[in-house]
Amino acid sequence: MSTIVRLGKKLKKYIMPKAKPCISYVRRIERVKTDERVVAMTFDDGPMNAPCNPSSFGEIDYGDAPLTSVILDTLDKYGAKGTFDVIGYTGDNYPDECGPVGSPSWGGVKYDHYPDYKKDSLAGAENQGELLRRMIDGGHQVTNHGYKHIIFGKKPFVYGKRECLKNIDEVTDDLRRLDDILRKRYGYEITMSRPPHYVDRISGGFTSYDAYALLGYQYMAASFDGAGWLPAAGESGEGAFAAEIAEMISPFEKNISENPDFFCGQIIFQKDGYNMAKRTPVAFGLEKQLDLLTSAGYKVVTVNELLGYSQFADVGRDDPDYDIFESLIAEHAIAYSDNTLCPERHMSVGELAMLVAPREWAVEKRIEAISKKGSRLSNCFGAMEWCRKEGLLGAKIKEDAPLTSEIISAFSSYFEKIPRGFTRREVLKSYKK
Ligand SMILES: [Zn+2]
Repeated sequence: MSTIVRLGKKLKKYIMPKAKPCISYVRRIERVKTDERVVAMTFDDGPMNAPCNPSSFGEIDYGDAPLTSVILDTLDKYGAKGTFDVIGYTGDNYPDECGPVGSPSWGGVKYDHYPDYKKDSLAGAENQGELLRRMIDGGHQVTNHGYKHIIFGKKPFVYGKRECLKNIDEVTDDLRRLDDILRKRYGYEITMSRPPHYVDRISGGFTSYDAYALLGYQYMAASFDGAGWLPAAGESGEGAFAAEIAEMISPFEKNISENPDFFCGQIIFQKDGYNMAKRTPVAFGLEKQLDLLTSAGYKVVTVNELLGYSQFADVGRDDPDYDIFESLIAEHAIAYSDNTLCPERHMSVGELAMLVAPREWAVEKRIEAISKKGSRLSNCFGAMEWCRKEGLLGAKIKEDAPLTSEIISAFSSYFEKIPRGFTRREVLKSYKK
């Protein structure tokens, strides 16, 4: 093989996305499959107890009302429920210096500081209990965006100068610290998380999915950018602010007019904080977005409520077996990491192992093995080990082998009756709960 071909193959391995993600205890929820006009909005990096900037625009003047209150008031006005992806406190992230306004390091070169450099106590669950209480009492959802909002691992190209958490223990400690605040002070149980800046890789062969598996979280992503967090290009002053608000509104106008069902089941990304230019277009653009959505008949719900319309990205409530899938997903790993179910695929041995193995055992075994090895292992490693230990699988059977009647016969006690076909649908339908 020529060097170029080999190099090309190597590059392809890095550039091309994998054919199909693995079955996972943690599902990355971007949107769900539904025909109903329901949509969720997420707000990152708050709560923020600093005023909007600018505080007035056009006919609206918010005075010194904190941004988070303005967002909550606006949601209330439309009977909308938001999902607030909150932080704990960034005040321990010093020494640091801040970069130029308008750049990604506007709030800090080594770390992020919310709502702003040297104003850390004005944002986060640690110090902004009143705002957090208002979110919870108002029926909004709160999710875990990391106590210190430090990226989970290195991301050289974009965040080369950023300090990151050192290992999976630091990541889970950081997440647990914020989880504890919500649990102990508010009796609130967090179920989802989004990594700071969506950085997934954790040193030592781990990813954010592993940290979330240990915490029992799902991965909250988004399918649509609500915009406003990037400074408007080529404008300054009031013109820039007006442009940022327009960038938040026009994609909503365009998409709804082209296809009123466009937003069905989508999760919209927004910011409960300053954008890179230290402005808060969300305070003024959100109202129009909500007006457009509700006028088109949309109900704006929390991400958790959205999952009530369908748990999956590719299978909706109209599927004849939806209830079976939904009851299984509560306890078992049956979906892929991208939250698809792919019911017509032939089930593999590793997928069967994930279905039957006890979750906690399998997760711990795998984490332990990665720690020893220092590099990544497949998602079903722990589940495969469990099945081998129980004598259900021989040592030589590979996880990506397709299921056969010979293999499944060893698992007969897990099934009402042995499935006739081995599509994922057939196997899941026959599973004894
Ligand atoms: Zn963030």
